[in-house]
Amino acid sequence: MIINNVKPVNSNQPINIKISDGKIAEISSSPIIAENEVLHLEFNNGIIFPGLINSHDHLDFNLFPQLGSQLYNNYTEWGKYIHERYKPEIAEVLKIPVELRSKWGIYKNLLCGVTTVINHGEKLGTANDLINVFEDSHCIHSVGFEKRWKLKLNNPLKKHLPVNIHVGEGVDLQSKNEIWQLIKWNILNRKLVGVHAVAMTESQAEEFEAVVWCPQSNYFLLNKTALINLLKDHTNILFGTDSTLTSEWDMWGHLQSARKSRLLTDNELYNTVTINAAQTWRLNNGGITQDKDADLVVTQKSSNSDGFDAFYAITPADLLLVIHQGEIRLFDEELLEQLSNIKEDFSKIYINGVCKYVQGNLPGLMADIRKYHPNANFPKSITIPD
Ligand SMILES: [Zn+2]
Repeated sequence: MIINNVKPVNSNQPINIKISDGKIAEISSSPIIAENEVLHLEFNNGIIFPGLINSHDHLDFNLFPQLGSQLYNNYTEWGKYIHERYKPEIAEVLKIPVELRSKWGIYKNLLCGVTTVINHGEKLGTANDLINVFEDSHCIHSVGFEKRWKLKLNNPLKKHLPVNIHVGEGVDLQSKNEIWQLIKWNILNRKLVGVHAVAMTESQAEEFEAVVWCPQSNYFLLNKTALINLLKDHTNILFGTDSTLTSEWDMWGHLQSARKSRLLTDNELYNTVTINAAQTWRLNNGGITQDKDADLVVTQKSSNSDGFDAFYAITPADLLLVIHQGEIRLFDEELLEQLSNIKEDFSKIYINGVCKYVQGNLPGLMADIRKYHPNANFPKSITIPD
């Protein structure tokens, strides 16, 4: 496949890319001439960037609406509250088989241009090739909710895996103390990736390989987020959406609110969803260089702005093309003529009224889910043609 005339984020020089065997094979400043049978896409004023890496989600929880109606001191308080207050709502969503819920969670990510998601929880165990569902970490829920967490943390058979754990999700002393507990009990000196870290101090951050920042979820529960502007000097910062239980479905909305907080520079925030995440999870993507996996997104510019202003103004409706390991997973109707031969395997949807083709039968999946839950919580901006 050849992609001609796209501009990387923060550059005015268009580039041209050749993809083969799922990898970026060539990057050139002059247009690449396609050999006969090679798929060849020409863009005009498109932005290209690596497929986003969402470092925290619970794929099977994305049919829940946001649950909670006040602020909480910590996640255990919130957890107790929602199980008491929203018992019927929770039961209704859990009636939908977990496979269907997880498949929707994958689409939720793909529709935002995410090509790798780090799923927290039980391994899905189902093969999926639409995006990378990364499960090579050792998920321990949290100090508060995981039974026998000390034993699990010190399981020598899992020593080679990074520990992926919610930590310090609260504003009280208990939340700060649980981080010290985790550090103290990390006897095998395992690599720790801490999710949320709202209560984390700079000295605690030194003990973590990375912290996954989920600002929207934090503001919803606690009206406070992690001290990312300080923690960034002590650990690697990644970015996560968490599930729709505590945040909106659209990752671009998350990035926009994160940018507004000004806790990271535009470039630092960009790195949290690309190169920082690729390094922490040891992935061969997150950048546009030769031999990297061809996980790439092309969008149109939705505003007159340039550079990072243009990048952070993107919405899912602007996505023109999502490529995962060299294969097209989503494309805009604008490319239909150039891609008419691959259309069969794709289904048609609208995002905010803009027509997209996504691989697989998304309308069928939504219909299957509605058999179990007629009012399932799909985003209002996603519609299916009659
Ligand atoms: Zn979570």
